[in-house]
Amino acid sequence: MTDFGIKEALKTLGVNDINEGTSTGSKWFSNGELIESYSPVDGKLIAKVKASTKEDYENVMTAATEAFKTWRVMPAPQRGEIVRQFGEKLREKKEALGKLVSYEMGKSYQEGLGEVQEMIDICDFAVGLSRQLHGLTMHSERPGHRMYEQYHPLGVVGIISAFNFPVAVWSWNTALAWICGDVCVWKPSEKTPLCGVACQNIITEVLQENNLPEGISCLVNGDYVVGEFISKDTRIPLVSATGSTRMGKIVASEVAGRLGKSLLELGGNNAIIVTPDADIKMTVIGAVFGAVGTAGQRCTSTRRLIIHDSIYDKVKNAVVDAYKQLRIGNPLDENNHVGPLIDKDAVAMYNKALEKVVAEGGNIIVEGGVLEGEGYESGCYVKPAIAEAANDYEIVQHETFAPVLYLLKYSGDVENAINLQNGVAQGLSSAIMTNNLREAERFLSHAGSDCGIANVNIGTSGAEIGGAFGGEKETGGGRESGSDAWKIYMRRQTNTINYTTELPLAQGIKFDL
Ligand code: NAD
Repeated sequence: MTDFGIKEALKTLGVNDINEGTSTGSKWFSNGELIESYSPVDGKLIAKVKASTKEDYENVMTAATEAFKTWRVMPAPQRGEIVRQFGEKLREKKEALGKLVSYEMGKSYQEGLGEVQEMIDICDFAVGLSRQLHGLTMHSERPGHRMYEQYHPLGVVGIISAFNFPVAVWSWNTALAWICGDVCVWKPSEKTPLCGVACQNIITEVLQENNLPEGISCLVNGDYVVGEFISKDTRIPLVSATGSTRMGKIVASEVAGRLGKSLLELGGNNAIIVTPDADIKMTVIGAVFGAVGTAGQRCTSTRRLIIHDSIYDKVKNAVVDAYKQLRIGNPLDENNHVGPLIDKDAVAMYNKALEKVVAEGGNIIVEGGVLEGEGYESGCYVKPAIAEAANDYEIVQHETFAPVLYLLKYSGDVENAINLQNGVAQGLSSAIMTNNLREAERFLSHAGSDCGIANVNIGTSGAEIGGAFGGEKETGGGRESGSDAWKIYMRRQTNTINYTTELPLAQGIKFDL
């Protein structure tokens, strides 16, 4: 059976049988336990990585804090040049890294390539930004004074990331943090440690070619215990954490307890509103891609379809018909639409969600189930399912990280649909399908969607790197990637300069000295 070029890809990326898991750049060391990475594609062991001990972590922090002293004084456009070279290396290794992402995480090869393309795009964005880290100049109220603001690097940025975007999320953070003058310590998900090793190898080549010190890019591996080293560390002024809301609440309170900054990118419960004026064909494409893409394991996956009762049956039938054409199987085979879930725990959660929706009164209209037999040996392949449900069911209120889509009905005005869409604890991505300008504008207005992302005639899933990415409420409030998201990686300083021979005191106070 073809291995879809996996062995070759692992070789290209320097991912060996057993990799050390802790790195300050060219130096690898680890004393922790072995983490085994199994592929959800075929259930096989890909390779092992060593977890980081507290001592390993301390070595990393020593190198990172030392490297910061060199990196912070390098002019930002020169740091941008390093990020440009990193983007070039990613272009060279795009196929290999895309393949590893697909094999270790389970998303389709196309999506794996797309993830690496996002890394390349954010590098390009960061290169331009490295000449634009500007603050404002203000008019002083005092004569002969000038006032302005500047942005300075923060220090060591800690990055904790989730399994479902095992490489892109890191680059969204690092590409910006690096041009801002910060150094980074990354803990990838314990479910995708090899993607972390591969990325570290790529950036290390660039840093070595430029004779830059150890510590600008660091990797630690392990589970929440290693994540806590980061969240509790007072030497880390900013922790960027991507993952579940449960994790985000713990990390946020740890970081807030020491008055650090956190950038949180947490769970979503994303909905598409379908109004009587919707283009049904576009709606079906957007909804199906949003619900089953990456097997429902995107933070922006479509979980709820809120359909006007006048077109409910039409939309429902069209979506159900589209589901009949889905091919589930090896994600490295481009003929398949849906790959596996990350592991058997995720399969158990999917099964539980289906049981729960039925127990709460829901009506399953596209049956789910776990696939068995040839090609499905990993036990992680499930059928995308659809249930008719109500927004107040407990299960609908939660994010189930699997391909389960809930159909909800609304009647009357679009405001009723917006209330349902906003009537959950999460606030990441939202969409409306309509050709009615008034409905679209109401959805986008101050009284419309309460999410960080609100789209018209595009589904909830996926985003361009040029915009700020993130969401409100239990999604955590963080913003990464484009727009002015770079500002969180820097500290703002206001400067006042007096070029007179007088020293006027504030509030007109006079000191006769
Ligand atoms: P998870 O919360 O289980 O793990 C995420 C990361 O947090 C891992 O690296 C894990 O080791 C670490 N971690 C867990 N507990 C920790 C603790 N107490 N202290 C420090 N670190 C800890 O999430 P997951 O299953 O890997 O990812 C899926 C979740 O991520 C979904 O909820 C999804 O919506 C969310 N997600 C959100 C975004 C976004 O941008 N909003 C992007 C991707 C994924």
